[in-house]
Amino acid sequence: MPGPQVTIDLERIERNARTVVSWCAEAGISTFGVTKGACGMPQVARAMLRGGVQGLAESRFENIKRLRDAGIDAPIMLLRSPPLSLIDEVVRSVDVSLNSELTVIRELSRVAERMGRIHDIILMIDLGDLREGIWPDDLIPTVEQILALPGIRIAGLGTNLTCFGAIIPTEVNLGQLTDLSDTVRKTFGLDLTYISGGNSSSLPLLLSGGMPKGINNLRVGEAILQGGRDTFLDTPRPELDRDVFLLSGELLEVKMKPSMPIGKSGVDAFGGRPVFQDIGERLRGIVNIGREDAHIEGLLPVAPGIIVLGASSDHLILDVTEAANPPRVGDKVNFRMSYGALLAAMTSEYVEKIPMYDRHAATPASRVSIFADEAVAPVLHKQTLDGRLANIGYDVDFTTATSADAIARALDRRATPLVFGADHRTSFAAMKALSGSFDAFGLIWLDSVASMLPEQPGQAVAGESALYRALGLGTGAEPLAPKLSPENVVLIGLRETAPEEVEILKSARLKIFTIADIDALGMREVIRQAVQIASAGMQGFHVSYNPAVTDIPGHLPGSGGITVRETHQVMEAIHQSKAMRGMDITGLDGETEPRLASVIVHFALSAFGKRIL
Ligand SMILES: *Cc1c(COP(=O)(O)O)cnc(C)c1O
Repeated sequence: MPGPQVTIDLERIERNARTVVSWCAEAGISTFGVTKGACGMPQVARAMLRGGVQGLAESRFENIKRLRDAGIDAPIMLLRSPPLSLIDEVVRSVDVSLNSELTVIRELSRVAERMGRIHDIILMIDLGDLREGIWPDDLIPTVEQILALPGIRIAGLGTNLTCFGAIIPTEVNLGQLTDLSDTVRKTFGLDLTYISGGNSSSLPLLLSGGMPKGINNLRVGEAILQGGRDTFLDTPRPELDRDVFLLSGELLEVKMKPSMPIGKSGVDAFGGRPVFQDIGERLRGIVNIGREDAHIEGLLPVAPGIIVLGASSDHLILDVTEAANPPRVGDKVNFRMSYGALLAAMTSEYVEKIPMYDRHAATPASRVSIFADEAVAPVLHKQTLDGRLANIGYDVDFTTATSADAIARALDRRATPLVFGADHRTSFAAMKALSGSFDAFGLIWLDSVASMLPEQPGQAVAGESALYRALGLGTGAEPLAPKLSPENVVLIGLRETAPEEVEILKSARLKIFTIADIDALGMREVIRQAVQIASAGMQGFHVSYNPAVTDIPGHLPGSGGITVRETHQVMEAIHQSKAMRGMDITGLDGETEPRLASVIVHFALSAFGKRIL
């Protein structure tokens, strides 16, 4: 199944962001991290925020929505003038937008006023690159007109260079921006927060000491995401890491072939007339990456001695004659990418994106802390759960206090909590504890219901709305987002929804595998995808299991759930991922029959690695 993959090293993004932020900070410049090269991927945004960027910047509204849906509440700047049809959402979810057209600014004002808000804009000035911006001569009259708009605050001035006209930022053109800012400040008595002096391409000027005083903001994407491969093309900066995104594909064919095609020459699949040079027989490889996946001209093989010859829609042709290790069919081939190739790969549906996050590289804990209240504890003791976990090599402790605080203390001792309870309030407590220990974690939820019912504001957590509350969808207190974000939540085995839940489930960005999906894909594929989604760029995931998802013979028979064997398959795959950081099991009480308790305890043991042999 896996086609081409892009792996994204979040630690390197964090480090690059930290480097750029510190360069800028020394000159009194704030940094906004631009996520458009990564399609607004929340993991990438979080890595930038960990690296210290003061805010995020995006060109596309869909990506901003993605960031907000993930619970990210950092300031967000919209880089491109918003389309008139989206003004409402821009005012609602964006803190500041870059603008250059009065028509749009008027509409922003009208909508903001209607909502009782003031929308901040940065007025863009064209200093010669000929992309967006008002002409410097028009600045004063434009500002005058904007000041008459009640819904708008001019938060600053900005410019963008090296985009269309390839005009390089200099002391002269950026000096013009600071001069214009001074004029606007003096003429109108305005307090301008941002004097935004461009993108990554302004960093060389900053580092050479030529940045005009008065520039106090930059919007940086490439230098953080690509380590400045384009920004510092001729003089790479050792402080920046260029190997953040790697595209990899698999060799489908490796054969000796002549370097000249044989037969009468016409046009290729894309209307081109290729020219070949006869250099004799060469060892050639074909990789499963094509023009549908990436911008081929921007691919740079990582291993020395590999040359890209060309590509059709699905096949990338390589000359691997000089490769140090003779490649074989099935081998992975890795490529660095130009910014253009990166954009193409990130937006291709055929390319799997795999964010990797290794900090506190989580070796699974060797300690398990079991939590079960006074009622459930005897049921588990009868099954000797603690003894069986000890038999497979864990240090085990057992506690009857099941509060989030108690669970958090177990995590502090580097134990994996295994929490039992009657309903999903227990799941919430366990996840709340995890949110204290991890910056970002995913969730695999195995239940026939979703707990996504809206809740009454001000109420305590209820079992039916535990996940709704955790994802911060209501106005209720203590959401666990953005540490737990919908993009990393997987629901497996869903088969009952309340009418008011359906729309909420559809609009949330959860991954849901219903029973019908499991039938169609098979459990092996479902759990492979689930582990991938729940751990993508996360520090691991939580597992929530309720026996209602499983058809347990003699209990809830014929209810149409997954089988006992499939449940074990899920738990075994979870164990193999080494990424489970906590587990809760709900639906147990003091009355639970020993036979049912025994089945459930065996599921838990599978998740912790018990094998038959
Ligand atoms: C894309 C963009 C940026 C970021 O550019 P990089 O070269 O990736 O740093 C900054 N500002 C605007 C207006 C942009 O469109």
